[in-house]
Amino acid sequence: MELKVDLDKCTGCGTCVFACPFGAIEIVDGKAKVYDSCVDCGACVDQCPEGALFIGVRIAGEVRVQDYRNVWVFAEQRDGVLTRVSHQLLGKARQLADTLGAEAHAVLLGHNVEPLAQELIADGADMVYVADDPLLKHYRTDLYSKVLSDLIQSKKPEIVLFGATTVGRDLAPRISQRIYTGLTADCTGLDIDESERLLLQTRPAFGGNIMATIICPRHRPQMSTVRPGVMAAPQPDKNRQGSVEHVPVTLGDEDMNVKILEVVKEARRRVNLEDAKIIVSGGRGLGSPEGFKVIEQLAEALGGEVGSSRAAVDAGWIDHDYQVGQTGKTVRPDLYVACGISGAIQHQAGMKEAKFIVAINKDPGAPIFQVADVGIVGDLYKVIPEIVKQLKAVGAGSKI
Ligand SMILES: Cc1cc2nc3c(=O)[nH]c(=O)nc-3n(C[C@H](O)[C@H](O)[C@H](O)COP(=O)(O)OP(=O)(O)OC[C@H]3O[C@@H](n4cnc5c(N)ncnc54)[C@H](O)[C@@H]3O)c2cc1C
Repeated sequence: MELKVDLDKCTGCGTCVFACPFGAIEIVDGKAKVYDSCVDCGACVDQCPEGALFIGVRIAGEVRVQDYRNVWVFAEQRDGVLTRVSHQLLGKARQLADTLGAEAHAVLLGHNVEPLAQELIADGADMVYVADDPLLKHYRTDLYSKVLSDLIQSKKPEIVLFGATTVGRDLAPRISQRIYTGLTADCTGLDIDESERLLLQTRPAFGGNIMATIICPRHRPQMSTVRPGVMAAPQPDKNRQGSVEHVPVTLGDEDMNVKILEVVKEARRRVNLEDAKIIVSGGRGLGSPEGFKVIEQLAEALGGEVGSSRAAVDAGWIDHDYQVGQTGKTVRPDLYVACGISGAIQHQAGMKEAKFIVAINKDPGAPIFQVADVGIVGDLYKVIPEIVKQLKAVGAGSKI
């Protein structure tokens, strides 16, 4: 850590010069200049009337926030297919860029991925940087971090957004550390403070009991991860025009700490809750793992997917892939049926955007009824079989 001067704020008033017990600061060309005799004691920091001095991370050169422009999205692709969150983030990047009077750019890393650039332009990108190289075919932390941080340092975006996927959660912190900037993980809201040109990054804090809005005023870019499903994907406009810039990739053995010998895909049922139109979720009220058989029956009768609360996951009744909520998936189905789920705030964080919510719970005071459109007070083991019977009687599943 070392004493830093925010050159945008410094007025050269000289208060710091008098405050410094070591004579380590002078005013040069109207701005405070810190010399090597500074011991980072911070005596000047409190005295500065403009808040222009701070003890920060040691970086090469001053950060001139005004040098940074445009909003970037790391466009994550897997096997040549863009992840859904990439589309969602581009929709948000477009809004943020419009508010800032800036451009929205996407960065695409991979091999033979250029055809995806047009999809990103249709989503709202003004420009797509494409880094295409056989070494980038599969995600590797070291290579992706190098290419992306080099590009960020050369092009200087003011905001960079990542999906909070397995890849994004691995890559974003690595980059923020390399380029000495902050990162706010798992944002649920992104907005702009237009007067200060700051990204307002909102996320749950203290176990979801408060929403904190975090800013990164002194470092650039401002970086956030956003979980899939939190932002709505834009309507693609296939006629939109944008440009593509190829990024030269110069990777050598010295950049590679990991070699991929083989890619083995785990054979398991893909849980696609984020895309599901209908979800039937079970919670601790099921009483045992067998309870999910009843949930599956209702999901099948409705033509939907199975979800769960965290309590059911923690009990080992179902895999974490099925968990809906703050630390699970964020879903936006047309119909969400919560069975034996109390409706804790952390569960609601993942499902309250559902268009229609049905809750089945034997406790009439359960918080889930406050967000439900239809509430059924009763024992799920009596209510669900009856609903399934009625649905089968009218042959509903395929018609919904
Ligand atoms: C940081 C943090 C992150 C979290 N993330 C998540 C998350 O992502 N997702 C999540 O779900 N939770 C999350 N939680 C946990 C959350 O706070 C709750 O503990 C959890 O959601 C409770 O799960 P539940 O509703 O299944 O269980 P309970 O709260 O125990 O509720 C069970 C409900 O079942 C009802 N019931 C019992 N028997 C029956 C029956 N036979 N028929 C009908 N109803 C019945 C009861 O009346 C009760 O309302 C998180 C907590 C923290 C602190």
